[in-house]
Amino acid sequence: MKNSDILKLVRPNIMRMEPYSCARSEFKGEARIFLDANENPYGTYNRYPDPLQVAIKDKIAKIKGVRPGQIMLGNGSDEPIDLIYRIFCRPGVDNVVAIEPSYGMYRVAAETNDVEYRVAMLDADFNFDADAMLAEVDANTKVAWLCSPNNPTGNALPEDQIRKILDSFGGIVVIDEAYIDFASRPGWLRELDRHPRLIVLQTFSKAWGLAGVRCGMAFASEEIIDIFNKVKYPYNVNTLTQEAVSRALDEAEATATRVRGILDERERVVRQLGSLPLIRRIYPTDANFILVKVDDANAVYSALLNSGIVTRNRNKVSLCAGCIRVTIGTPAENDALIAKLKTL
Ligand code: PMP
Repeated sequence: MKNSDILKLVRPNIMRMEPYSCARSEFKGEARIFLDANENPYGTYNRYPDPLQVAIKDKIAKIKGVRPGQIMLGNGSDEPIDLIYRIFCRPGVDNVVAIEPSYGMYRVAAETNDVEYRVAMLDADFNFDADAMLAEVDANTKVAWLCSPNNPTGNALPEDQIRKILDSFGGIVVIDEAYIDFASRPGWLRELDRHPRLIVLQTFSKAWGLAGVRCGMAFASEEIIDIFNKVKYPYNVNTLTQEAVSRALDEAEATATRVRGILDERERVVRQLGSLPLIRRIYPTDANFILVKVDDANAVYSALLNSGIVTRNRNKVSLCAGCIRVTIGTPAENDALIAKLKTL
């Protein structure tokens, strides 16, 4: 597929529309006095933020080994998730297919946009079979949702099965890599240039420790990023967020050190959970959380909650009956979890 052919996947109304033009994008040349955007001339945060976040995209591009034009930043990765529906899926007509179980927002955003959500079940060990997903595809399937490492299961999806989707499915392939910095294998950014229909999602909310500032990343071909930029809110990433992200990017080594610490803790918690008779199964994880199976997930969840420890009860999620998802916390928090579990 030529890169220009991607545009055939875009909703016709999105192709036709003229984007909003920000005051500051309209002039060229040296400027000293800004009387163009109806801002207040006084204050610290009186100016609108850079709508295209050029300074931080330059830093992200260097760290991730991509071109700045291959990056879109959003209000968390939840923003690009919603925009993918609004760009590619005609409400009431098109459909998407997603692995199941996976991150709940793919379905919520499908429902908000009136787009049919089809599922390709993982097997009982959470393995992914590309053929099961391809069997759900028809002429109106615009997007395939993959999440690797997957939430809530924790495992990374096999490379050969992802490659099969990239090679055989003619629509947009999204690989959500929110947890990639905790994984033992590299992600798919290196293959962006080879797959013009691929969108990789990452986020500052997990490894970077910035869930509170809300900044997510979408990486894709320049053609797709141009369309994201056309439909997103002009000032979708605020100045405070851009400043916090910029500082974190300057201290990327500190993030890497913290990630290594979390991985050491993950190994320790897995070992300790393994010695508890209450725990029936610990699923392999490539993320900063562990999915465990117990006999009575509701009872264990409530007992933990009664001692002030909040975990995620996944008992009602497909294939996850009896399962609880626990995030790796500080050593003291993890010790408190283990100590409580020992009493149950
Ligand atoms: N993708 C996955 C797989 C997630 O688990 C989450 C958050 N739990 C997100 C995306 C959303 O992240 P953000 O904070 O960037 O919106």
